[in-house]
Amino acid sequence: MTSPFYLSVAIAAPIPKLFDYHPQPDSDMSHYQAGLRVSVPFGSRELTGIIVNIHQNPQISPAKLKPINALLDTKPLLPQDVYQLGHWLSEYYHQPIGECLSLLWPVLLRKGEQALGSKQTQYTLSPTQPDPSVLKRAPRQVDLLNHLTKNDVQWQKDLVKAGFTPTIMQGLVEKGFLDKQERDSFQPIKGECSQTPLTLNTEQQQALTSIEGSDGFKSFLIDGITGSGKTEVYLQAIAPHLEHGKQVLILVPEIGLTPQTVQRFAQRFNADVLLLHSKLNDRERLDAWLMAGQHSLNDNTGQLRGQIIIGTRSAIFTPLPNLAMIIIDEEHDQSFKQQDGVRYHGRDVAVVRAKTLNIPIILGSATPSLECLHNGLSGKYQYLRLTQRAGSASMPELQILNIKNQAVHHGLADSLLKPIQDTLDKNQQVLVFVNRRGYAPTLYCPDCAWIAECRRCDAKMTLHQKPAHLHCHHCDSKLNIPRQCPECLSHKIQAMGAGTERLESHLQYKFQKTPVIRIDRDSTQNKNAMQTLLKPVHNGEPCIIVGTQMLAKGHHFPKVTLVIMINVDSGFFSADYRAMEKTAQLILQVAGRAGREKDKGVAVIQTEFSDHPMLHLLKEESFHALSLALLDERKNQHLPPYGFQVLLRADCHQPKEAEMFLHRVRQLLNQHQHALNMPNLNMIGPLPAPMELRAGRFRSQLWVSAHNRKVLHHFIGVVIKDIYEVKGFHKVRWGVDIDPTDNM
Ligand code: ADP
Ligand code: ZN
Ligand code: ZN
Repeated sequence: MTSPFYLSVAIAAPIPKLFDYHPQPDSDMSHYQAGLRVSVPFGSRELTGIIVNIHQNPQISPAKLKPINALLDTKPLLPQDVYQLGHWLSEYYHQPIGECLSLLWPVLLRKGEQALGSKQTQYTLSPTQPDPSVLKRAPRQVDLLNHLTKNDVQWQKDLVKAGFTPTIMQGLVEKGFLDKQERDSFQPIKGECSQTPLTLNTEQQQALTSIEGSDGFKSFLIDGITGSGKTEVYLQAIAPHLEHGKQVLILVPEIGLTPQTVQRFAQRFNADVLLLHSKLNDRERLDAWLMAGQHSLNDNTGQLRGQIIIGTRSAIFTPLPNLAMIIIDEEHDQSFKQQDGVRYHGRDVAVVRAKTLNIPIILGSATPSLECLHNGLSGKYQYLRLTQRAGSASMPELQILNIKNQAVHHGLADSLLKPIQDTLDKNQQVLVFVNRRGYAPTLYCPDCAWIAECRRCDAKMTLHQKPAHLHCHHCDSKLNIPRQCPECLSHKIQAMGAGTERLESHLQYKFQKTPVIRIDRDSTQNKNAMQTLLKPVHNGEPCIIVGTQMLAKGHHFPKVTLVIMINVDSGFFSADYRAMEKTAQLILQVAGRAGREKDKGVAVIQTEFSDHPMLHLLKEESFHALSLALLDERKNQHLPPYGFQVLLRADCHQPKEAEMFLHRVRQLLNQHQHALNMPNLNMIGPLPAPMELRAGRFRSQLWVSAHNRKVLHHFIGVVIKDIYEVKGFHKVRWGVDIDPTDNM
């Protein structure tokens, strides 16, 4: 008889440990290995977990352990590098191993489903067609045959939508007109290989040469203004890898994955393009995930076929057996940071993965994050700059319009109406950027100063007109618009400030013959809405686009020559020390939409704070100069990238509870700091979060920082176990945010 063994299983629960189980009765040890999924009883539930360890020394008495319900896999579904990445996440971000490993799987696999791609029935015309006279008495079969003659290949589900029943299809199969096949329902975009590489300019060539000349792991930062041809460099840098049938992974921001971006990659290579983004449903995501993980060098014609995986943040965890290069476009973008659960930074995880695989990684941006710029300047990353617009375009001119003593209507300075008219008269287009959707940021009463505030958040409610309602953008609460002031019953309540809807209607009123197109989250909710709305823009007719930062990335509008930015400067006065960096990035991203082809562009910043020194540095010098100034400030204040931070957050429905919890934590931290003799740690808090009440929860924060990353991580590693042990705060939710990127 063999001695008993036990399985240590990682389970997605907010408890930082593994759980021991018995194997299934009478099963053999050889069936089990690390990385296999199991279904286990957990409290009253049945959950999917992952075997991390097989051992013979359970931590509690074996009599108290339960057996697993089922072993779900016969071989590990994650390649070793991804599995290791999960362990790294747990260590670096100080998060429970079960939650980190569960991040690596598509939702359906977390729920215990089989790792099988979905198949669907497809019909094609048989190569040899029988005599059609046999169909004389089957008019519907004739219709279907005609339909297929026009459409060639068809999925059964599409034919059903077109009005044909499976019986009609089966009839044609039996008579030999059609072939029926089961095929993977998820199909990659096939590369067309229809476009040839451009001749690079000197700077692009230098960047490419550096990348090509490297071997193994290396990080490159391409700091190149919008339109400088970064994407062209990416395309040429990945070419040799694709020619060898390898995979490349391209991470893009949440809203950067436009059809234009995808097209550029699909048109260049003989490679499959797989998209992994947040709009995929669970089934599609699993299918795409499996397809990426099964990549083999040859397609069924025996030809080498590369694979390009384009995805947002979580795509960094995709199994990619032939990965040869990682690219992160718009590396500075906030959406690479996960802001709940395991708060990881996709960019930083990507660098770790590249290092593990010993492959190069390229980080690109027109407005690099101060973290990456610092790494570029210090030589940790190879720093490559593209300072010229590629082709014939030049950078738009930045203008600052002081509106302190100017007439402003519905958010727009009257003096801008003429330049808008002039631009339209030249058959060009105008983009008005305002980072607030809805009609107005709030509703207020001039008689008693009442403001429409959310009851569940420390925030104002946004006034919407299409359709009319008050909406809290923080907790999604909706209310009808009151007819009179709820405080003093005045009928004079009015909109305050301007959002996209208000600017849209104002501009439409002023320019009645010109299409005014509003692009924001509300106007683009339906699939393909963005494409439809942007049609006149791409057709090149004179028009005005009003939109939020959805427009700031990835779009290429050749005819836009005037960009107007409204209210961007609110970011100058935020409590977040990163606000200046973020605002400057936004200004340049938006300004970069202007004059992307031969017509010179102008970008106007409409502001009440026209003498802000940072704004002038941006206008007279460059983003780079501004970044250097900001780096200097950060250095003096020991802020990232010169110092390291951890943010402990807590929240609770009841006031004061979260704060009391963090007080208790602070005591623990003080004790440990004393015991470990670590005077170089700095702690601040507990403090209320900048928006203390959000979605009905009171939020509190505790900051821990140090000049040295190792010191800080060692400390957190020691104290975190004790924080989990703090008793008496059942209702408090808390979490740890390593390298926080915002203080909200
Ligand atoms: P970025 O990614 O830096 O914004 P793109 O790669 O999109 O820049 O290039 C901007 C425009 O310039 C595109 O229309 C692209 O086709 C063109 N372009 C890029 N490189 C060259 C080049 N070497 N010669 C001519 N045109 C170029
Ligand atoms: Zn009032
Ligand atoms: Zn709210």
